[in-house]
Amino acid sequence: MLESALYVVATPIGNLEDMSPRAVETLKAVAVIAAEDTRHTARLLAHFNIDTRLISVHEHNERQRIDTIVHQLESGASVALVSDAGTPLISDPGYVVVREIRKAGFRVVPIPGCVAFVAALSAAGLPTDRFVFEGFLPAKSSARKQYLQNLAAEPRTLVFYESPHRILASLQDMRQVFGGERVVAVARELTKTYETIRADQLTELIAWMEADSNQQRGEFVVLVQGVAKEKSPEADQRSIEVLDILLAELPVSQAAALAAKLTGIKKKTLYQLALEKQAEDE
Ligand code: SAM
Repeated sequence: MLESALYVVATPIGNLEDMSPRAVETLKAVAVIAAEDTRHTARLLAHFNIDTRLISVHEHNERQRIDTIVHQLESGASVALVSDAGTPLISDPGYVVVREIRKAGFRVVPIPGCVAFVAALSAAGLPTDRFVFEGFLPAKSSARKQYLQNLAAEPRTLVFYESPHRILASLQDMRQVFGGERVVAVARELTKTYETIRADQLTELIAWMEADSNQQRGEFVVLVQGVAKEKSPEADQRSIEVLDILLAELPVSQAAALAAKLTGIKKKTLYQLALEKQAEDE
């Protein structure tokens, strides 16, 4: 017997084999499935022989649907929330529903599964220790370039979703803002027949995509390598030793200032180094 809750259920991003047994069981057991697009979800349900009642939930009827869901939960029934693909709320609707259902005091249970950008990060070979999910970029080139400009110095891997209509234009804007040498990965049609994951410097990547229009088709995740942090190049072994001694006695800023006087290395460089050392020690 399923505990009464709103279940947020991830569905496949292409390959139906990625539907988890728990997702199927949950969609079978709930009283109602709230879906972004009921016709789209009806095909998924048919494939898995699920005959649970579907209701649509989108921007325009959200408020009313929240009332319906609350009503179901009050009567002890369960409801599932799904989107067209992957995990609901990730560049998909559902945030307001989840927020309001929690506010009303009911349990919200995630049934995890596919997320396109996680699949892309797991296979593209770009750094994954830290990343920033940016979702979709602005549609217009001028706004897009402005937006990218603000991310130009970001050290973490940048993650974007992109449509086939804009993939080439977006990569071209990235080349203009980040430079042609920046390493970027495109992950296309993940889990589907024409899955392609390619990482290269922007100039080469764009040339490759321009040469084969098939590479501009389908759904895309774009990953952009972050800017390498400056590793304080001028600081030699002696200045590091001096800094270490001073850091044991003084606050970071004073230690850096004094070490700069003693070694002739820039204070800013030593200050940065001191912060890095502190972070390593923590
Ligand atoms: N909720 C989804 C998730 O968990 O990833 C994302 C939904 S968002 C509306 C759709 C976008 O996700 C597409 O435009 C594309 O950028 C990306 N996407 C979804 N499926 C994909 C796939 N199979 N391969 C590459 N990108 C995909």
